[in-house]
Amino acid sequence: MAKRKPLNPAEDSGPPRMVIFGVQGSGKGTQAELIAKRYGVSHVSTGNIFRSEISKKTALGKRAMRFLASGKLVPDAVTNAMVGKYLKTAAARRRGFILDGYPRNHSQLKALERLGGVTHAIEIALPDREAVRRIGGRLNCVCGASYHVDHNPPRRRNICDSCGRALFVRNDDRPAPVRRRIRIYHRETAPLLSHYRRQGVLLRVDGRPAISVVFRSVVSRLRKTLGAKTRI
Ligand SMILES: [Zn+2]
Repeated sequence: MAKRKPLNPAEDSGPPRMVIFGVQGSGKGTQAELIAKRYGVSHVSTGNIFRSEISKKTALGKRAMRFLASGKLVPDAVTNAMVGKYLKTAAARRRGFILDGYPRNHSQLKALERLGGVTHAIEIALPDREAVRRIGGRLNCVCGASYHVDHNPPRRRNICDSCGRALFVRNDDRPAPVRRRIRIYHRETAPLLSHYRRQGVLLRVDGRPAISVVFRSVVSRLRKTLGAKTRI
């Protein structure tokens, strides 16, 4: 794998090509949206790409759907092809992008390197215990409303503000499945961070404070490397 030189805006004048990492509950999706808005880059989320390709019934969407429908993971080859398609769009080439949910493992990282790699890897760091606590606090209602015991509590305990029905915790948000996904993140995704650290493009931000505080840290870290090539 070609080693990138540490990012120097004077040498690297193309649009920003970013990737964001963090365990579930770290708020990385929200930060990715804020970053995309602020810097005018495309927000390329694998979750959104999957939904869009499936709803448009493209060839790739149909292939992904066959695996998802049988409860299997979508193979890397299909995911790599989908992401590659979005990174080759005119918008992503011209304005740059932030990838969210990709790469998740070494084989995806190699595919991304073949597409030109990234200029910035942002890690939203959150202790596992805090991730379990945040996700475990999510409350849902059959009407579609969602709450959080700490950040967005319903007016009456466990009762939906909009329809009055009892709230519930999704099975996926219970501690055991959350811990299982966190273990997978540590086993397959976290090792990719050392690759980006070696390339000199990793920015690590503390994910524990409020969303706006985390975003300010991200911006101040990016400002140091993006200033010369983007209007901030
Ligand atoms: Zn409701």
